[in-house]
Amino acid sequence: LLRVQGLQKSFGTLQVLRDISFAVPAGTVTAVIGPSGSGKTTVLRSLNALDRPDAGVIGIGDVTVDFAGPIDRATLARFRAQTAMVFQAHNLFPHRTVLQNIVEGPIVVQKRPREEAVDDARRLLEQVGLAEKADQYPYQLSGGQQQRVGIARALALEPELMLFDEPTSALDPELVGDVLRVIKDLAATGRTMVLVTHEIRFAQQVADQVLFVDGGVVAESGPPSRVLVEPERARTRQFLSRIL
Ligand code: ATP
Repeated sequence: LLRVQGLQKSFGTLQVLRDISFAVPAGTVTAVIGPSGSGKTTVLRSLNALDRPDAGVIGIGDVTVDFAGPIDRATLARFRAQTAMVFQAHNLFPHRTVLQNIVEGPIVVQKRPREEAVDDARRLLEQVGLAEKADQYPYQLSGGQQQRVGIARALALEPELMLFDEPTSALDPELVGDVLRVIKDLAATGRTMVLVTHEIRFAQQVADQVLFVDGGVVAESGPPSRVLVEPERARTRQFLSRIL
């Protein structure tokens, strides 16, 4: 479903991504791990062009973009519509109810009929275990609940590919479990997902593929049973020994 070839990205003189290549089959989960500052978030943000790579080709579903050349607006819009991102902190609109937050994108951006969007939103709220919170405001929810609304809001856009940027790193430890459970349920239903995470044990449970990003490249990749348990490279072993 996702093909990434030769991604490069610099911020000023700092070259963050040198040559990132990987593929994600449909219906699988990929966890991106690596040291702080290695460019994990930049990889993720490249996948929906929130950060524009300097070079490289990304194909998602039937849309392929070559970032080395000019990209027309219609192609970029189609490319962006393939994915939805769940951020570290949820970024919900504070003055809108939970339900209003979820239907905003489908109604305003995708021009879908309100009734249909509302029905879908209620179904998604049920899926993330928050059916009874539809008419509350974000401040009335816990951080973990807000994050689950963020997940429902991303799902409402019906993306081919879900992107998660450290979805639990801003949460109190006791709230992490509920959010991880929702992500796990999504994985079980065959959602294609890429997630940047520091939760190595979670990656082990949920991921089909782990990418260890280091030095601007995918330094090691493979199933979690290999990369996280018996890594081939010294750098990967060193990284895991520091965080486990
Ligand atoms: P962490 O695990 O700490 O979140 P990361 O692996 O996700 O780190 P990135 O957030 O992708 O790393 O950042 C990679 C490098 O690029 C860092 O050195 C960061 O300071 C730099 N960087 C990221 N975004 C920008 C930007 N918009 N402008 C300048 N530098 C940036």
